[in-house]
Amino acid sequence: METEKKGATMKARKSTIAILPCLYALAAALLAAWLSPAEAQSQTCSGGFELPRACITERGLDEKVAAFQHKIVEALSKLGASYKIEVRIIDNPNWGPYGTPTDGTDVWTDVVRNEEMRNESFIINVTARFLQAQPDILFESSTLHEVCHIKNDDLNGYHRQGRNIEVAEERCVADAVGMTRYQEYLRAYFKYKPNMNVPYETFLQRVRDVVLVPPPVESDDADRMAAAYFKGHADGKEHLLIYNGEIHDVTLVSTRDSVRIDPEKLQQLIAAGKPLIFFHNHPGEDGRAAMFPSYDDFGVAALFSFMVWRENPSIAVEFRVMQVSRQNVSSVSYGFKRPVIEQIKKNAEAYRNAMAQQEDVAPIQLRQNILDYRLAQESYNEYLQHAYRLEVIRTDKEACAYPQYFLWPSEKFFLHDRPQASDRS
Ligand SMILES: [Zn+2]
Ligand SMILES: [Zn+2]
Repeated sequence: METEKKGATMKARKSTIAILPCLYALAAALLAAWLSPAEAQSQTCSGGFELPRACITERGLDEKVAAFQHKIVEALSKLGASYKIEVRIIDNPNWGPYGTPTDGTDVWTDVVRNEEMRNESFIINVTARFLQAQPDILFESSTLHEVCHIKNDDLNGYHRQGRNIEVAEERCVADAVGMTRYQEYLRAYFKYKPNMNVPYETFLQRVRDVVLVPPPVESDDADRMAAAYFKGHADGKEHLLIYNGEIHDVTLVSTRDSVRIDPEKLQQLIAAGKPLIFFHNHPGEDGRAAMFPSYDDFGVAALFSFMVWRENPSIAVEFRVMQVSRQNVSSVSYGFKRPVIEQIKKNAEAYRNAMAQQEDVAPIQLRQNILDYRLAQESYNEYLQHAYRLEVIRTDKEACAYPQYFLWPSEKFFLHDRPQASDRS
């Protein structure tokens, strides 16, 4: 429930950030001059913003930190989310990069963004005093609350829930653990913050009443037409479709968990020169796992990209996996980032040139095959396995994250949930 206050301090950032390091340096210099080396060592463990690793141990906080980290892992699993989150132990929030005191804030989240300013990973800050003095139940409720902020993209710069942001995250927590457990959290919170400006019952009622703002819908004509096609062909088998303004079924043969493309149909669509969106469904699986592309899907995406670009490098390609049931449609776009795309395009260009000069293309095809294989392996080892962060995936399919709450930094792979309009039919 702390982000509101923190948001209010953001404006002060620019004006104060320059003075702080100087003040800090001065204080440190004075201490060093006055204290014996042993005392100076202890003193460096107070008065700074971030508590260094050695000081965490010195203050006997190792177990508390581990307990807090464990609660983050539990929160992720309860909320069906998978994010890369680091914990930063804060000694004195007043010395932080935000410039002004954070006014009693003990737990808050910072976003790490990539060059394109997209969220990539997160830092949950927690003060040493909170770890030291507060009970485990508040570790549990605060980590759930922070992961709800991340889930709802209610972080610096974007507040989907608007003015209701803090109450909305509390509602997200309550939905995850149930009202009984949630009221225990809330009672513990009121004990920890006895000067709350609303009575307990009023706050609880607000949490009950708040209406959560759903994520913006991203479905396009391609999604709608593909979903309609899958619904009309629910034969329990996988289908491979290509959308280029119209839907084309390019399935040659398929089973419930494999599909082969019709090369002639693909050639015709490449020749038409329009952007291509490849769709396939996962009828053989169920639950959340089915909403993710498999590592084979990444390998196949590399192969199809190559097949298109060796003919025409200017055709845009996109890959989506769809999970279609009577009530729900989920659509997830997945694929490669620039370094991989450049590699595939290079192979495609080499192939084109070899063809033009009537040279042997087999070595180039082999190089591409190796790349497809390697990308499939890496997509799992470096990326997808974080969606199935719990080892129990083989026994319990529900243990993996929801694709909409899966965000891992990767140089090579991406996965993007495309929220669909709820289906009223
Ligand atoms: Zn909050
Ligand atoms: Zn698949």
